[in-house]
Amino acid sequence: VVGGGINGAVSALALAANGLRVALVERHDFGSGTSQESSCMVWGGFKYLESRDLKLVAGLCDSRNRLASAYPTRLAETRFMAALDHGAPFPPWFAALGAVAYWGLGRLATQPPRHRSAATIERLEPSVDTSMVRGGIEYSDYLLVDNDARFVSELAIGSTRYGASIANRVEVLDAEQGVNGWRIAMRDRGAGRDLEATARMVVNAGGPDVPVVGDLLGSATEHRLVFSKGIHLVVPRITDSGRILAFFDDDERLFYVLPMGERSVIGTTDTPVDDPQVAVTAEDRAFLLEQINARIDRGTPLGEADVIAERCGVRALV
Ligand SMILES: Cc1cc2nc3c(=O)[nH]c(=O)nc-3n(C[C@H](O)[C@H](O)[C@H](O)COP(=O)(O)OP(=O)(O)OC[C@H]3O[C@@H](n4cnc5c(N)ncnc54)[C@H](O)[C@@H]3O)c2cc1C
Repeated sequence: VVGGGINGAVSALALAANGLRVALVERHDFGSGTSQESSCMVWGGFKYLESRDLKLVAGLCDSRNRLASAYPTRLAETRFMAALDHGAPFPPWFAALGAVAYWGLGRLATQPPRHRSAATIERLEPSVDTSMVRGGIEYSDYLLVDNDARFVSELAIGSTRYGASIANRVEVLDAEQGVNGWRIAMRDRGAGRDLEATARMVVNAGGPDVPVVGDLLGSATEHRLVFSKGIHLVVPRITDSGRILAFFDDDERLFYVLPMGERSVIGTTDTPVDDPQVAVTAEDRAFLLEQINARIDRGTPLGEADVIAERCGVRALV
């Protein structure tokens, strides 16, 4: 398995648990790619109700529920408070209907959703500026208890219990398919030496580099990846409630304030990019700060000096 992000770690774990001999190699550290830049949410695809693809949402909810029951100490049911103002694409009553449908598609596995008036949001979440809020919804989904990279590392290490060999700082440089399977040329970046392995099958879990790894393997596909950049800003804690706050930004995109220990994490954005190597720009930062400052009540607006850390990655979309 080439690539130690969530997809590589899960592939290694599932294949090894099913009795295959598996090796997982990651050129940097486990979970150091896109899988350390996520919002850490394990959700059932509430947003996809917009496209009325009920089968997709039911399937995602089912996966979410199974993951939550398989890893009860790693995933926590978390309440979301979505505050909807006049710029939101839906009125609160319609969002509430959607939340009930979402709960039903999720087989009632979480606490039920609630329609919330602006006054109730003000009472439950005093940090939200409700002056423009028409109302909202409170509903549940799941959040990783620690963080995404840690979860990936745990799954990768977990695969060794079923006999998988895992190695970080090992990069796949070349691969050749012969009659007896693959010969894989690798570089141990830690020890500075070349390695070789043979395999009957190779799983390309290279994340945004799937096309690059695909070229090494000589595998052709009619599909193409497009990249969407997303950033998060880590700031001093905005709410003590433990809820995730959800808002629509000026472009009608959902963004969140997520709990992270003593901090809050604001994000994310969604910007199409050509190159998967991305970094937070001054423009990204200013956009997110402007969006959140317009929606929370805070004596002094959040500024650049309040940004403790930043996260930035690309969604690789087929
Ligand atoms: C801003 C943002 C927010 C997101 N929020 C969520 C969320 O809340 N919930 C959710 O479910 N999803 C979320 N996602 C999506 C999720 O993060 C990705 O779908 C997931 O991390 C992709 O994992 P991956 O294993 O495919 O890729 P990656 O994590 O990128 O892993 C690929 C790995 O392959 C390695 N690699 C590449 N080439 C080689 C080589 N030649 N040899 C060895 N190793 C190699 C890389 O070093 C890398 O570590 C979010 C994404 C972004 C960008």
